[in-house]
Amino acid sequence: MKTLGYAAQSATTPLAPFEFDRREPQAGDVAIDILYCGVCHSDLHTARNDWGWTLYPSVPGHEIVGRVSAVGAGVSKYKVGDHVAVGCMVDSCQSCSHCHDGEEQYCDSRVDTYNGPDKHLGTHTLGGYSKHLVVREEFVMRVPDSLDLAKVAPLVCAGITTYSPLRTWNVGPGSKVAVVGLGGLGHMAVKLASAMGAHVTVLSRSPDKAADVAALGADALLVSTDKAAMKTARNQFELIIDTVPVKHDINPYMPLLQTDGTLVLVGQVGEMPEFSSVPMILGRRRIAGSLIGGIRETQELLDFCGKTGVLPECEMIRMDEINQAYERMEKSDVRYRFVIDMSSL
Ligand code: NAP
Ligand code: ZN
Repeated sequence: MKTLGYAAQSATTPLAPFEFDRREPQAGDVAIDILYCGVCHSDLHTARNDWGWTLYPSVPGHEIVGRVSAVGAGVSKYKVGDHVAVGCMVDSCQSCSHCHDGEEQYCDSRVDTYNGPDKHLGTHTLGGYSKHLVVREEFVMRVPDSLDLAKVAPLVCAGITTYSPLRTWNVGPGSKVAVVGLGGLGHMAVKLASAMGAHVTVLSRSPDKAADVAALGADALLVSTDKAAMKTARNQFELIIDTVPVKHDINPYMPLLQTDGTLVLVGQVGEMPEFSSVPMILGRRRIAGSLIGGIRETQELLDFCGKTGVLPECEMIRMDEINQAYERMEKSDVRYRFVIDMSSL
């Protein structure tokens, strides 16, 4: 089945229209007409081969919302017309302990929505910057009726990547949480943590985000370049979620954690500069990492947003505006998530 998308043909070429094949739906598959696709910084890292493992042509996009157009004979959870979402994964082994625990993101055979091995077509997977998608039922999630479809897409990457650590580290009413980097992931971390009743501080390089910080539901803005303010903020936080997308120094953040506090890295994938063990040893503080979240937990997040009304701040773009959107994202000029209206393709 032919579909149309936008692909990068190399690390240095802009994304451009690209026609390619989707598999015919198999018994366990759901076929989806894509309505909206969020633009994650991982899409940009992949298109530009920042991580060194991109396969071309590359069709990014793993924040996908659409309408079911067909289902295979074995599909029981979805029917034609349902509004559904697909995030960063489209397959896993379904039999290892991680898959049994609903944590398919840590399965050794996880298949990413783009740039993963496509065992049906023998190529690599191509993502949501496209008109259609065919996915096995287990990796499809239901969008609650109460939510505005145009804003749901970022929940299934930016949302779940911050929701999962908030749940893992038991954030709830009164928890003290800080978020480093107020972009797509960061602003979802703020909204979700505050909806859970936490006291939320944003750690940003950008003092001009103060008004936004309050509007998003955070209680405080700490400008990370203000040394005096950083000093008075020591020993405060149980959890710091660090969403910065590049190699960066975490030494200034560690003393801000309480004893037993954790800084969880979700942004930079790869090398980090040296860090001092002093604040870790003196305060039994920890550094951790976290990858998206499982399908069950992502559905839990969608339902949580359905009940609380938490949704990202979106700037809608046309498909042919994607290259300018990437340029703006590189300059941190996005408040706070680009979403592609796929009817523009
Ligand atoms: P984004 O929208 O571009 O936001 C990143 C934010 O980080 C910026 O708004 C900026 O906030 C801050 N920042 C940017 N450059 C910086 C620099 N050089 N130094 C310090 N701070 C900087 O990106 P995103 O979509 O949220 O993605 C963030 C990262 O998470 C990416 O690397 C992405 O690949 C990764 N990611 C990981 C997972 C996972 O499962 N772990 C899932 C999705 C994405 P301020 O201006 O407020 O400082
Ligand atoms: Zn993402």
